[in-house]
Amino acid sequence: MGNNIFTRIEIKRRLQASGTEQEELFERARQVRNTVQGDKLHIRGVIELSNSCAENCLYCAMRRDNRLLNRYTLDEETILSLADQIINTGIPTVFLQSGESEKCGCLLESVIPKIYQKHGCSILLCAGKKDFETYRRYKEAGADGYILKFEAANPSLYENSTGSSHAERLSCIRNIRSAGMKLGTGNIAGLPNQTIDDIVDDIFLAMELLPEFVSVAPFIPNNGTPYEKSPKGDIELTLNIMAIWRIIFPEALIPTVSALEYIHPDGQAAGLNAGANVITVNFTPKENRDKYAIYAKDRFVVNIEHAYKTAEQAGMTLNIM
Ligand code: SAH
Repeated sequence: MGNNIFTRIEIKRRLQASGTEQEELFERARQVRNTVQGDKLHIRGVIELSNSCAENCLYCAMRRDNRLLNRYTLDEETILSLADQIINTGIPTVFLQSGESEKCGCLLESVIPKIYQKHGCSILLCAGKKDFETYRRYKEAGADGYILKFEAANPSLYENSTGSSHAERLSCIRNIRSAGMKLGTGNIAGLPNQTIDDIVDDIFLAMELLPEFVSVAPFIPNNGTPYEKSPKGDIELTLNIMAIWRIIFPEALIPTVSALEYIHPDGQAAGLNAGANVITVNFTPKENRDKYAIYAKDRFVVNIEHAYKTAEQAGMTLNIM
């Protein structure tokens, strides 16, 4: 394989790498990571605030039309006490994720400054499309990063998979950047009707957006969605995308997502071997966790022990406290 990965043809080839070619790809990704950032595994604690959502993405169980899902929104007191727990565990980043509703937007405006004033910690959000002013207020209140995946660079693939405007999604992504927050973005591997060329476009779009955090998750068929019977995303393809992200973005934080563990035993350690360097521990209360079904009802829930085990399997260092 040629050394210049930045051409369309080379990216396409690496997306399909297997056997020795794939091992070389992962090795190069690890080398880039370890040279630029060392072998440190970063850790985040996530609180999934609410599964109410106004959007209707065909792949996501939180979609508006999914009547099978019981909706919940955590109350402010619970969120603040979970944030305390994250910080008291020694995890430096409070990650607040949710579906998209007005109620949850207001909740965020109220909890962000309280968490920030109490802990002065890093606060990362993933709560969907908002207007520029809202992103700016989140930033001012203390949030330093926001993840909004473009999901698919191909406008028609995006629009057919979500029922929403691609241009609007991209404009939100750019607004996050203009609001002064670190930007996280990325795609889904194995979305129904996605081609390899679509994924090459995903990689080129990310190169334009220059995210600080970049992530890919394998598509997981969710019950109660139009895509519930579609095949799940391929782990090898997902890992190849992660390795390419790493080579292209040496300084990025790249999570090894729990969906990898769901589709494959030790899938998250495999993600670290492909160049990732972040793991997210779940702090959502148990009774709400099953209802926050972005991946699947029986999704894999990461705890601290699993984070340590995964770091060890991949020969990375996880230091809490
Ligand atoms: N509504 C917010 C955040 C919550 S969902 C938003 O749109 O950003 C967070 C991420 O979960 C989404 O960006 C999407 O990429 C991912 N996701 C949702 N359903 C999925 C599925 N079935 N398979 C894989 N990833 C999924």
